[in-house]
Amino acid sequence: MAYKLETLTIHGGQSPEPVTGAVMTPIFQTSTYAQPHPADWPWEYARTQNPTRTALQDCIASLEGAKHGFCFSSGVAAIDSVIRALSPGDTVLCGDDVYGGTYRLFTRAWSQFGLNFIFVDTTDPSLEIPKDTKLVWLETPTNPLLKTSDIAAIAKKSKDVGATLVVDNTFATPVFQRPLELGADVVVHSMTKYLNGHSDVISGAVVTNDASWAKHLAFIQNSAGAVPGPQDCFLVLRGLKTLHVRMERHQSNAKKIVHWLQNHDAVQQVLYPGFGGMVSVYLRATLEQTCAVVKNTKVFTLAESLGGVESLIELPALMTHASVPADVRSSLGIDDGLIRLSVGIEHIDDLIEDLSQAIENGLNKK
Ligand SMILES: *Cc1c(COP(=O)(O)O)cnc(C)c1O
Repeated sequence: MAYKLETLTIHGGQSPEPVTGAVMTPIFQTSTYAQPHPADWPWEYARTQNPTRTALQDCIASLEGAKHGFCFSSGVAAIDSVIRALSPGDTVLCGDDVYGGTYRLFTRAWSQFGLNFIFVDTTDPSLEIPKDTKLVWLETPTNPLLKTSDIAAIAKKSKDVGATLVVDNTFATPVFQRPLELGADVVVHSMTKYLNGHSDVISGAVVTNDASWAKHLAFIQNSAGAVPGPQDCFLVLRGLKTLHVRMERHQSNAKKIVHWLQNHDAVQQVLYPGFGGMVSVYLRATLEQTCAVVKNTKVFTLAESLGGVESLIELPALMTHASVPADVRSSLGIDDGLIRLSVGIEHIDDLIEDLSQAIENGLNKK
C-alpha cells in the first residue's frame, strides 16, 4: 500500500525492533557483526551496512518516491558521490547560482580531473542542453536568490540528449517538490537542513529509481566510505518524523514575513518562490547598515545554514556566498544589501517584532 508522505515521515523504512519490540529504531553503535557461518550473513561490516542507516535510507527514499536511497556523512559528500560516476572529458551543465559549496566542489576540488563544468541560467525557459552533456545539475529554488526552474521541462530536454538530470532538493524538501515524479533521475539532499531540522547533524542523501545509478552509489558509499554514523542517522530519523508539520509552520511564518516586508519602507525587493521557509530581501541600505541589521536581531540568530526550527539571518555576500568570486556574485545580484532569512517555527509576532526593531536600529546607523 502506498502511504501518504505524512505517514512515511514517521514510518518509512521503520518497524519495531524484532528482539525487544523497541518502537524506535535503535542506534546500532557497532563496527562489525557476529556471523553464524563464514560469509553467510547479511551484515558484514558497518561501512557496508548498518541497520540504523538502512532505516534512514529507506525512509528518505520513500519520501521522494524512490526505490533506492544512500546516506552520506554530509550533503557535499552525497554530491561528490554522484560526480564520481563521471569520466575525464565529461560535461556537466550546472545552474549558475547553486549552493556555494557545490560550486566550490565542482570548480576547485574536481577541477584537476578533466571534467567540464558549464554554468547556465536554468530558470531561462529557452535553456538549451548541448548534445554532449552527461549530467545536468539543478537546484530549484536557488540559494540565495530563490529563483525556480521547470524541472519537468528540463527533464525532457535532458532525456533528449541522453543526459542524467540530478536535482538538489534541499530547499524545497519532498513536502513541496518531488523531482523524480517530474522526470529527474537522481535527487540529492543536504539532510543537515530541513530534513533533520534541528541544527544538530551534518548529513546527506542521494535517492534514485535507476538501477545503474543505485549500483554506482552503493559502490561509492562502500569504497569511498563517506558514511554517516548510526547516532547521526538516528537523529535524522527522529527529525524527519515532524518534517511535514514543521514545513507547514515554516511556510506560514515565511508568508506572513514576506507580506510584512513588502510593506516596509526600507525594503527594495522581497524574494520568495511562493512556498517554503526561505526568504531573501534587498534592503535600501549600505553594507554597514545591513551588517548592523543582522547583528541587531535577538530572536533570529546570525548564522550560516538553514532549515532548523530556529530562525536564522545572514548576509550572503560576506557569509554563505563568500567563496563565490566577487564578479560572479555581483553579476547574479548577490550584493551588500541582500539579507537571507531562514524562517523558523517560533511565534510570528516575535519574529516580526524582532525584524522590525533590527531594521530600524540598523538603518539608523550612519
Ligand atoms: C547545505 C547545502 C548543501 C551541502 O550540504 P552539507 O550537509 O552542508 O554538506 C548542498 N546543497 C544545498 C542546497 C545546501 O543548502
